Amino acid sequence: MPVTIHLEKLKDEDLHLSGELPAEDLRLDLGGTHDLIRSAKDLHYELDVSRADNSILIQGRLKIELSCDCARCVQPFTYTMDLSNWSDALSLSGADAVEVKGEYVDLTPSFREDILLRLPSHPLCDESCQGLVFQQETLPAEDEEPSDAWGALEDWKQQK
Ligand SMILES: [Zn+2]
Repeated sequence: MPVTIHLEKLKDEDLHLSGELPAEDLRLDLGGTHDLIRSAKDLHYELDVSRADNSILIQGRLKIELSCDCARCVQPFTYTMDLSNWSDALSLSGADAVEVKGEYVDLTPSFREDILLRLPSHPLCDESCQGLVFQQETLPAEDEEPSDAWGALEDWKQQK
């Protein structure tokens, strides 16, 4: 179920919305080959919505957990994006007017846009993460390209 606002209803009273938006409905499109942010859990929202002249004002909280790989140590961890003071204003007229279907406005694009903007570009399991320092120190320098040599040997074996 998308998160929608019924405009007629909003004329008479402010609305309170809370619930969960399934990750597949939010469609953040995560998990590309080089993406450190693998996937997202369901989005939790708790919002107050009011009408002001020609726009809709939304205020509240968005919270979503993201499965990430640490940019330094490559270990998987859960990053929680907790936007406790989130707000947005959707214009109902003009060039940047929000799309109205029937009498409903879908809030999903607003959520998606803001979450995508706030995704960490270098997710860290911990600010003090030391990354792969330990492993780099223990590996001898001449072991830097072992895979190619072994690959060549395997090729040679298979040709025999
Ligand atoms: Zn780390």
